[in-house]
Amino acid sequence: MQIIKNSIHRCQVTAMTNEGNGVVKIDDFVIFVPNTAIGDIIDVKIVKVLKNYGFGIIDKLIEASDTRTDNACNIFNQCGGCCFRHINYKEQLRIKQQAVKDAFERIGSINAQILPIEGSQFIDRYRNKAQYPVGINKDGKAIAGFYAKRSHRIIECKDCLLQPDIFNNIVNSVLEFINQYKINVYNEQTKKGLIRHIYLRIADATGEIMLCIVATGENIPKQKEFIEYITLLYPQIKSIVININKKDTNVILGDKCNYIYGDGYINDIICGIKVRISSLAFYQVNKKQAEKLYNKALEFAKLTKDDILFDLYCGTGTIGLAAARYVKQIIGVEIIPQAIEDAKINAKINNINNALFICDDCKGAVKKLKQQGISPDIIIVDPPRKGCDIDVITSICDLLPDRIIMVSCNPATAARDCRLLVEFGYTVEKYMPFDLFPNTAHVETCILLNRKE
Ligand code: SAH
Repeated sequence: MQIIKNSIHRCQVTAMTNEGNGVVKIDDFVIFVPNTAIGDIIDVKIVKVLKNYGFGIIDKLIEASDTRTDNACNIFNQCGGCCFRHINYKEQLRIKQQAVKDAFERIGSINAQILPIEGSQFIDRYRNKAQYPVGINKDGKAIAGFYAKRSHRIIECKDCLLQPDIFNNIVNSVLEFINQYKINVYNEQTKKGLIRHIYLRIADATGEIMLCIVATGENIPKQKEFIEYITLLYPQIKSIVININKKDTNVILGDKCNYIYGDGYINDIICGIKVRISSLAFYQVNKKQAEKLYNKALEFAKLTKDDILFDLYCGTGTIGLAAARYVKQIIGVEIIPQAIEDAKINAKINNINNALFICDDCKGAVKKLKQQGISPDIIIVDPPRKGCDIDVITSICDLLPDRIIMVSCNPATAARDCRLLVEFGYTVEKYMPFDLFPNTAHVETCILLNRKE
């Protein structure tokens, strides 16, 4: 059968990709269809045909899969955020468990034991961080929302179900102020205008909120009035920051901040550790699930009082500081200076005296630590989505730690990196997926590797 653009075919969804697209086959030719569930029978309309596969959209849902659920959001079809929102949570977890297992078996050639995925107690309102792009609607009014799938068109969203209610309220209040004083909004096409994003963080343990306005300048008009207005409405706002981003770029945050109200950070508690969170440092967005993930990493690590532990890609030091009381020494490495400053302060405010934090690229730092003759018993790595640099893999293996624990937000790069670690003398003992991002396709994994005898 010829598969051409705009043709319509009846078929059944048989699998799901890591990006959350359903898979249908027409005479063995694979078509990816968003917003479907395994088991759906659909009439698919072909929208794009490439050499080995194509893309389609649902023209008509003929028979709905029994894994579908009605957990509606009024911008579900336009926003790319929650690609699993229409699928029940049990099935979401099954898909993620399978995706991690497939990545480890196919990319990593790893056949170790996979533990059952740890699901999240809350599947909505679980995020503690949101970044809303600000734009102008047809009537010239400032709006905020999220980018449409694979685009920079802003879809207005007054209530994102993944965010705490208070975020949605604050955003609407900020927009009212912007509209009242006709404050200039940034336009991505003309590269002109001031306000780019509204970025919010909330600390789960204290309820403290950070409001960050990403702008092309260091201040905003009517700044004094704005601070009074917003802190009167929301006394939970403990810190207001202008983040300066003048660049024509997709990256949301610039490197510099102007702290216009409060101390520039909020206070949280994670795994029993008091932490300061500042605007530029990484902090897990679903804290309750992150605690479960970190506790599993520490359990896998089997810490003892004689151990030296490296916490690589340590952010504000959360994992290492949670481990500190069980070991002789921890050494954390992180590339963002503000995160390392936070990590040092976090050690101090928790009376932890056996922690050393180094601001450096892991690539160079691990080599330097080896030259100094420091040999860790356990190394925890928690890299960004692109995974570990190969130099980091080879230099951590050179240090011959007994155990390596990898915490990863990307199963594909984790599987690739574990495969290398296996080549360099380690075995994957077991691994366990964690769902930190319900309703989206993201999944975290905690992996235990032991040095071969
Ligand atoms: N372990 C921390 C942070 C994990 S996110 C936590 O759980 O909170 C990954 C971190 O790696 C980020 O803080 C990022 O800034 C840092 N990072 C990215 N590339 C790096 C590199 N080459 N060297 C050191 N740190 C890096």
